[in-house]
Amino acid sequence: YIGSFVVLGCVVFTGACSEEGSGEGSGEGKGTIGIAMPTQSSERWIADGNHMVSYFEDLGYETDLQYAEDVVENQVSQIENMITRGVDALVIASVDGEALTTVLESANAQEIPIISYDRLIMNSEFVDYYATFDNFEVGVLQGQYIVDELDLENEEGPFNIELFGGSPDDNNAHFFFNGAMSVLQPYLDEGKLNVQSGQTDFNQIAILRWDGAAAQSRMDNLLSSNYGGSEDLDAVLAPADLLSIGILASLKNSGFTADDMPILTGQDADIPSVNALIAGEQAMTVFKDTRVLAEKAVEMTEAVLQGDEPDVNDTETYDNNSKVVPSFLETPVVVTIDNYEEILIDSGYYEADQLNQ
Ligand code: BGC
Repeated sequence: YIGSFVVLGCVVFTGACSEEGSGEGSGEGKGTIGIAMPTQSSERWIADGNHMVSYFEDLGYETDLQYAEDVVENQVSQIENMITRGVDALVIASVDGEALTTVLESANAQEIPIISYDRLIMNSEFVDYYATFDNFEVGVLQGQYIVDELDLENEEGPFNIELFGGSPDDNNAHFFFNGAMSVLQPYLDEGKLNVQSGQTDFNQIAILRWDGAAAQSRMDNLLSSNYGGSEDLDAVLAPADLLSIGILASLKNSGFTADDMPILTGQDADIPSVNALIAGEQAMTVFKDTRVLAEKAVEMTEAVLQGDEPDVNDTETYDNNSKVVPSFLETPVVVTIDNYEEILIDSGYYEADQLNQ
């Protein structure tokens, strides 16, 4: 295990010795890992999948990587096929966290360990471990950014804000919203922040399957019903870049420009959103380095398969209604126009020429 880990570290951190690494690590027959990812509609999941494939291969595993394109039935049948083909472990980022209970029973019947990736799989005692980012903290960072930019400590306001939430069937969406509201709610109560539409319940603001087009049309409706007159819109809480980009399209269509754009948050550092940061249109995004998460999930899987205890740092937070799943929470980072070069380019996450600088 230690030998394999060194190989992995070498590949991840220097990128210089992957060939040697895969030679050394590829003890024939180490097994096959099924990797079930939700969709290719956001770059992050493509990056997650690719990084895991490369780290697993460096350790000598084969992989079966499948994307469900946000269709629950696709994901269930992809996982069924992986079980039938006899994979040695499953790493799953669910489309609908509540739709995998039955298929995980089949996996467990074949003694296949299950790692929940980024999103918690709900209602199953067979989820062994969970690798994710601190999802509550993601929301806190978004809410705090709005508070700081509006200087709510000192300003009386009231400032107008509208709220968006992620997909209700994604456990993360609730954590993001609760984290953001833990910061914003006191200012709403105090009247420094005002939601002109009155839509503040998660169920009113949630966007099923993180659909950017649905976010765009909700933003269109919010603007036409509530901001037709002299009311300014000062901030929009968007939990993820997939939604931010739809919201931004709506704002631009109704005449907002970089000069008077509401403070718009996001998450993932997807390229369209980083370009929007550079253009002064989206204010921030929360970066969750997919290289780090993929490495953690691979390390966890390898530990389970070697009969070792994976490293976890949270054994209290993530209750999936059947058990509290031992978790490793990575740290999310705020990215703005001021630090995107250092965090995204200098670290090698993106090449400079991928962005509109
Ligand atoms: C992930 C986010 C992502 C969202 C939409 C969430 O579960 O944690 O990083 O933006 O899904 O794909």
